[in-house]
Amino acid sequence: MMKKSHVVIVGGGFGGVYTAQMLVPFVKQGLIEVTLINKTNYFLFTPLLHEVATGGLGSYSTTESLREIFKGTGVRIIQGVVDAIHLADKNLSVDGHMMSYDRLVVATGAQTNYYNIPGAQEYTRVLKTLSDALSIREEIIDAFEDAACMEDTLERKKQLTFVVVGGGATGVEMVSELAEFTCELYTRHFKGSTRIEEGDYSLHLLNTGPELLSMLPLSLRIQTKKRLDVLGVVLHLGMPVTEVQKDKILFSPNEMLSARFIFWSAGVTPILPPFKEEVLMAMGHVKVTKELALVEHADVFGLGDVALVESPDGKGYPTVAQVAVQQAEVVAYNIIASLKNRPLKAFTYASKGTLVSLGQWYAVGTIFGMAFSGRLMWWIWRTVYLFKFNSWNKRWGIMFEWTRALFFPRDITKLR
Ligand SMILES: Cc1cc2nc3c(=O)[nH]c(=O)nc-3n(C[C@H](O)[C@H](O)[C@H](O)COP(=O)(O)OP(=O)(O)OC[C@H]3O[C@@H](n4cnc5c(N)ncnc54)[C@H](O)[C@@H]3O)c2cc1C
Repeated sequence: MMKKSHVVIVGGGFGGVYTAQMLVPFVKQGLIEVTLINKTNYFLFTPLLHEVATGGLGSYSTTESLREIFKGTGVRIIQGVVDAIHLADKNLSVDGHMMSYDRLVVATGAQTNYYNIPGAQEYTRVLKTLSDALSIREEIIDAFEDAACMEDTLERKKQLTFVVVGGGATGVEMVSELAEFTCELYTRHFKGSTRIEEGDYSLHLLNTGPELLSMLPLSLRIQTKKRLDVLGVVLHLGMPVTEVQKDKILFSPNEMLSARFIFWSAGVTPILPPFKEEVLMAMGHVKVTKELALVEHADVFGLGDVALVESPDGKGYPTVAQVAVQQAEVVAYNIIASLKNRPLKAFTYASKGTLVSLGQWYAVGTIFGMAFSGRLMWWIWRTVYLFKFNSWNKRWGIMFEWTRALFFPRDITKLR
């Protein structure tokens, strides 16, 4: 019997999981073995993470167990950290255990980019993991609990000033949900019975450039600003952050805000796989060919946030899940094609649209090039995301939580 080729996938996010799913038929045919390695034993659905951070969804709603996703498929799951990749020897180390491969897929994703701004890493909060989301939720509730008995108005205001840095989708979605969560906290739980008064809490969105959601058409950017105004968010546009200190953020020109909660969503930078040999890089990413193989390493493929493939405009593609998912199809195809000595396929990106939620019952976005905003878009946004989950178990769970949230307040019990 012919020896099966071993495909190892590093990273169980959008790129890695979708690649593995596309390879399942070939595992079942007995052509290949697939091993998927990820730091956690679950897939994290990042587009809904801000809802966990603001109490709209529970902690398990944005995760799906990798073992459950691949149950009965033959795909082997390893929870662990890949700490070395030896391209010349075609092997890698997972927490010190060696493993060889015939084809390797790197889909390690991205981490927060602080752009070397002093204090940004030390004094801001980010939203990349489930644990980030849970601690943000606690921090917001804590800010109100601590301010509740403070006599000094200025001190209360500092406690209850919420600053979000970054006018991209994550920053805008976060500040919108934050506005609704803080309003609910105040009106339902702290108004009247504590020292907190109406004008004590405030929300600010800072952006280096003059525009929010620059990837959307002008009409939707205008709608977004109007919506944020309704939610009470103060915009500071075209004002780059220069420094962050404990409970303080400085931005140009010579402006400053005192705030306990400073959230950073200004950009990402790739998590580089631990290659032991030099690989070609481009703009801080692993450079891949149009076929998504590493330059000079045809048996290694890269996709998602970590990889850079040239786009027709020369800038590369956005670091979004949709790109990673479309690339996964090409990577899976090319792995099989390369094993069968057939021609490889080039990656081309066809954006289906962009969706950004602006709190309850409002979203903006484009679908196949057409711009939409409002309640219908919000409903579409939710439905699209719901069907991205693998199992009906998760879909029902989220549907139930969203329905309950229409009638009942968020739970503000602290877990830690
Ligand atoms: C809060 C937030 C909201 C977002 N919202 C949207 C949205 O609404 N729409 C959208 O399209 N995109 C959104 N994105 C972006 C989207 O999540 C990414 O573009 C997408 O996840 C990229 O997929 P990936 O496979 O490259 O990386 P990821 O999905 O990040 O997966 C990488 C995986 O690799 C693992 N890993 C890394 N290094 C190692 C190692 N050495 N060993 C083992 N495992 C490792 C990581 O733990 C992770 O599980 C959002 C991102 C965030 C953080």
